[in-house]
Amino acid sequence: MTDRYQTFFSGDSSQSRSFSPTATTQKNSSLTSRKNVSTYRSTGNFRRKDNFKSPIKNPVRILNEIKTSDTTGKLRIMVLGGLEEVGRNMTLIEYEKEIIIIDMGLQFPDEDMPGIDYIIPNVSYLEDKKDRIKAVFITHGHFDHIGGIPHIMGNIGNPPMFMGKMTAGLVRKRIAEFKKAPVLKIKEITEFDRVKISDKIQVEFLRVNHSIPDCFAIIVNTPIGKVVHTGDFKIDFTPVNDKPADLNRIAQIGAENILLLMADSTDAVHPGYQISESAIGDEMDKLFEKISGRIVIGTFASQLSRIQKIFDLAKKYGRRISLQGRSINDNIEVAHQIGYLKFDPKIIVEDKDLGRLRDDKIIIIGTGAQGENNAFLARVVNNEHRVVHLKLGDTVIFSSSVIPGNERSIQNLMDMVVRQGAKIINYKMMDIHAGGHAKQEDLKLMMRLIRPQYFMPIEANHYMLQAHADLAEQVGIAKENIFVADNGQVVEFKKGSKIIGNKKFEVLGELTQEKIPSDYVMVDGLGVGDVSAIVLRDRRVMSEDGMIVVIVTIDSKTGALIGSPDLISRGFIYMKENRDLIEKTRSKVKFIVKDKNENTPSDDDYIKNKIRNEIGQFLFTATKRRPMVLPVVIKI
Ligand SMILES: [Zn+2]
Repeated sequence: MTDRYQTFFSGDSSQSRSFSPTATTQKNSSLTSRKNVSTYRSTGNFRRKDNFKSPIKNPVRILNEIKTSDTTGKLRIMVLGGLEEVGRNMTLIEYEKEIIIIDMGLQFPDEDMPGIDYIIPNVSYLEDKKDRIKAVFITHGHFDHIGGIPHIMGNIGNPPMFMGKMTAGLVRKRIAEFKKAPVLKIKEITEFDRVKISDKIQVEFLRVNHSIPDCFAIIVNTPIGKVVHTGDFKIDFTPVNDKPADLNRIAQIGAENILLLMADSTDAVHPGYQISESAIGDEMDKLFEKISGRIVIGTFASQLSRIQKIFDLAKKYGRRISLQGRSINDNIEVAHQIGYLKFDPKIIVEDKDLGRLRDDKIIIIGTGAQGENNAFLARVVNNEHRVVHLKLGDTVIFSSSVIPGNERSIQNLMDMVVRQGAKIINYKMMDIHAGGHAKQEDLKLMMRLIRPQYFMPIEANHYMLQAHADLAEQVGIAKENIFVADNGQVVEFKKGSKIIGNKKFEVLGELTQEKIPSDYVMVDGLGVGDVSAIVLRDRRVMSEDGMIVVIVTIDSKTGALIGSPDLISRGFIYMKENRDLIEKTRSKVKFIVKDKNENTPSDDDYIKNKIRNEIGQFLFTATKRRPMVLPVVIKI
């Protein structure tokens, strides 16, 4: 079957394409960084998301070195992120002294990590092993798989990278925002390629479905056995703008005696099969047919399959599309350029022409269906958007299911949409959300086809990993061969033999008690002018810069300010010596409270966020310090 594959890295075959680090080098753009990103390590003050962690009998040791004598014939798997959360995915596969990396994602912070933009994997294990890192493979272009790249690649010796075309486009777009990031050596791959890392390690690819095109599972061949890492996947026989799931190829891989399957557990707690993306398209079609006013759609910028469907429907119903927000514009531009999103550019309407179109000729696509503070939808309902204002007859479609924890923000958002006269259609009323991840029956199908000796659930919180592990047992994988690991915990394979039931195993796998560093590395947008991510940071910063409490009393109906705002400073400035600054801050607060939305005058979350952001920015400009700003809104 080698004939089917193109080979990189191998110098001896005349047919092979050889990998040249310079040939596909991407240019570092001169675009300036939106924010001045800095990284620092967690001080351990944050609640970790591993509430569901099972008790480990022996506390795991933190070991940052491998004993060199130990590595012979050993395959070690270490997941740096993605075993205790959804996000920050990064896996290390180490055979003897060679390491390959799969994915380099970021994780969005919890609500109790104020001011943190995102969290990236901790790569301190790799710092003294740069020469061993042979390659990086990226499964697909979502931020929880590519977001860490600009921060990490420079620290690990900038090894060659392999990924699909769409992923490469998104990675190039992202890295252009980081002036300090190295020039990446990206090689685009397809399912027909094979990468020869060394005499011992070779890598192949399996195309899988998800909510973005060009997703690949990674198959790593080592002398001790094959490892299959699915990345994010679902099984979709009728995807939009992508090739259908190839069960034959999966079964073919399964026939090759797979040592270990590492599989996506994001939807492992949900029974049944995932709905096909085209079924969602049909639902949307029925919906569009009935709507006569403007259609406003809140979605994720990364939902490119969904966005393709919207473009198709726009064409069908003679509507034009207005794209709102940077991430949506960026993603659509990349996907259109490389031919993954197909539409006539004329269908896009510029902001200045939007007012000239009839309402039934308009679709507006933007972000913020999760109630995110600074996203498009929030700005629209708060009357802060330059172009779009809601009105009677508009229909707002929330095209993504609620991410747990966002319920309240979404409810607030929906309240405000309705107050402004628009109608709402959300995923509960009509399922316009198809998840991008395999559900229980799909997961079982994958395991039955791959038939691995060992199984390791990945890419979810602990309880979801456990649910996936239970499924693995149901399809007949031996319980002692299923490893539900924590971040950083080393899984090790070496030659040996054991018999479970009537099955003989030639390779011994073990979930060891060894643990490499995997604690949080936080990225904080310190950039001046970045109003979205200001001020509240971790306690370390708070202890340095202090805090300021802003108390405002407002009329619960009209939102009018009652009396003068009170300011209390702790560890920030001595108030008696800074009367001038205090007075200026006070009048700034007054101004912020007055500048309210007429339809929802007393929304305290909105006022609080505004005070936090704008006062934080104001004080930073004045003092170059970032006190924690604590807004208190009293309604009477
Ligand atoms: Zn994904």
